[in-house]
Amino acid sequence: MRPVVRQGLVAPGIVAALVLMTLAFAGSGAALAVLAAGAAAIVGHHLWHLDQLTEWAVASLDAQVPHGSGAWVGAFAALHRRARNHAAHERDLRQVIERFQQVAAAMPDGIVVLDASNRIAWANPRAQAQLGLELAQDQGQPIMNLVRQPEFLRYLETGDYGESIVVASSRDAGRMLALQLVPFAADQKLLMSRDVTELEAVARMRRDFIANVSHELKTPLTVISGFIETLQDLDLDAGQRTRFLQLMQEQARNMQRLVADLLTLSALESEHNPLVEERFEVAPLLLELSADAKALSRGQHEVALDIGDAATVHGSRDELASAFGNLVSNAIRYTPPAGTITLGWRVDADGSGVFEVRDTGIGIAAEYLPRLTERFYRVDRSRSRATGGTGLGLAIVKHVALRHQAQLEIGSERGRGSVFAIRLPARRVERAPDSPEHSPGTSDPDSAKRASGEDASTSTGAQRGTGP
Ligand code: ADP
Repeated sequence: MRPVVRQGLVAPGIVAALVLMTLAFAGSGAALAVLAAGAAAIVGHHLWHLDQLTEWAVASLDAQVPHGSGAWVGAFAALHRRARNHAAHERDLRQVIERFQQVAAAMPDGIVVLDASNRIAWANPRAQAQLGLELAQDQGQPIMNLVRQPEFLRYLETGDYGESIVVASSRDAGRMLALQLVPFAADQKLLMSRDVTELEAVARMRRDFIANVSHELKTPLTVISGFIETLQDLDLDAGQRTRFLQLMQEQARNMQRLVADLLTLSALESEHNPLVEERFEVAPLLLELSADAKALSRGQHEVALDIGDAATVHGSRDELASAFGNLVSNAIRYTPPAGTITLGWRVDADGSGVFEVRDTGIGIAAEYLPRLTERFYRVDRSRSRATGGTGLGLAIVKHVALRHQAQLEIGSERGRGSVFAIRLPARRVERAPDSPEHSPGTSDPDSAKRASGEDASTSTGAQRGTGP
């Protein structure tokens, strides 16, 4: 017999025994009264438990299961066990959901859960920020109402979600987002979003760079192959031949310079090429550079040297010589004959060491200054080419400066001249013990003022620093 039935029969059994005993000793009237009282007690007991059960069933889910007696003990105990298991299961589920939400919130990518009719069921904070959603009010809204870029709407319609698409962010101008739909369960989808602005910029730079290099190489190659054909086809006299060969050599040198600058740039950018830290004196380097400048100028310019302080520098002598050399070569190439080029060095009061090249050349208008250190950027393309420029000189200078935690400071005024300065941080500069402390305005007031870019920038507003 099942325990509930057994326990349920105990009370009626006792009542029946009492009725029989009363019938035997006190007659049928008393027995009837005992039967009525017993039946009422049994019904009352069951009704009371039924009432307890009903109250528990309509109370909140975490309400305590009531304690029962008699036949109800087993039923309430079973309910109690079930409620406890349910609570434990719910706690586990809540933990899983919390963990999922923590993971989703920490994800660098945005995630939106879409239901079968592409309505927003949930979104992590990153997706809300990237796509401009507000979960509290957008939950249940069709995603098409909120992500409205035509490329996305087409993508959503196609049903082919193998690849992501890149769209411009409608929230932050200039930012690019990669969006991908990932179907899951029977008919739901995840919309993943990722900020790919930087990746896209790198890809575009790479494309531009390849296009630029190809273009730069194509021009001299076309000229050279044109001359070769002419030399093959035409019967030229010795003078013409020599002239053509000279022109071909010039173009070949341009290509050599370009390739050399490209190799220098790639070496400077390489992770496997750490900076060579050495100590060297500045004065001998400046003397070398000034001799190079004179050779380059072939007596067409006045080349002056202004060494304010004797000092030792920590860094790569070769790299700094190449950067300074580029600035000197530019000064000569962009300064008409009879102009003056001044190479200067000083240690400022804050301990930073400034190498500067000043010229009285063609100068640069303020609007071009921000782009000068971009690869292949030239203000005057034909002048750069005619003087053997590759368009990479200042990009090299910027990289060398970056590797030395130095600032590249440029001041210029169109038609009057320019000053390019590399400011090395104090920890890379050691003033010679017997060198008097340089304070702007003592040894060469003009030099200090111009090196800081003040002179040119106050008149043109054209000064900037490029640094780490
Ligand atoms: P390039 O090989 O063309 O000289 P750079 O990177 O060295 O390339 O310089 C970029 C551009 O900056 C030059 O094409 C030129 O227009 C401008 N520039 C650089 N130095 C000077 C200067 N001292 N005076 C005037 N313009 C300059």
